[in-house]
Amino acid sequence: MASYNNVKFLTSAAKLSQLPSDVGYEVAFAGRSNAGKSSTLNALCGQNNLAKTSKTPGRTQLINLFELDDERRLVDLPGYGYAKVSIAVKEQWQKTLTQYLQERECLRGVVLIMDIRHPLKDYDLAMIEWAVEGNLSLHILLNKSDKLSRGPANTTLLDVEKTLCGYPNISVQLFSAFKKTGIDALKETLDQWLAR
Ligand code: GDP
Repeated sequence: MASYNNVKFLTSAAKLSQLPSDVGYEVAFAGRSNAGKSSTLNALCGQNNLAKTSKTPGRTQLINLFELDDERRLVDLPGYGYAKVSIAVKEQWQKTLTQYLQERECLRGVVLIMDIRHPLKDYDLAMIEWAVEGNLSLHILLNKSDKLSRGPANTTLLDVEKTLCGYPNISVQLFSAFKKTGIDALKETLDQWLAR
């Protein structure tokens, strides 16, 4: 299993032209704000401050890139769940996001983080659609599974799996960034996607 503990911040991009050159391997992380994307990246990489967990609503949305080594990167795609962001900003961001998902050659897969108590919201369904259209592999984390007991957590897992069972390149797992539940399964998926 690759070590994700030495992941380092690489750069931020406000638009696609500012991304590093499209070579090597990337895995992107997406999710509605508050689903726990920052906490997941921090848990995965064993660092408390890699991805900031306090965000200012309405500020410029940046794509943050982290590097495992000179060929492999983790990409933090901002969510846009902020009520304060204007429709124009959301539309511009959606355009950037879909373009990234469709055109980025080095993108190997997308990890979509959902709050297990609120799965498959509009944003998630849009991400799933774009991933399917782009022929991308998608791995869904049902995060904050520590908030539910085992029975309800497994019921949600089965429900989500059932909803998405027609898609061969989508996988789903229980996860808790707080308890680090499911972190090995996540790493296995990342290892496969990032294999040279
Ligand atoms: P982001 O907006 O998706 O980056 O979400 P954050 O990582 O900032 O987390 C949003 C909120 O959910 C914060 O209050 C976190 O403390 C909380 N949170 C994140 N992951 C978990 C988890 O696994 N379990 C629980 N109970 N809370 C979590």
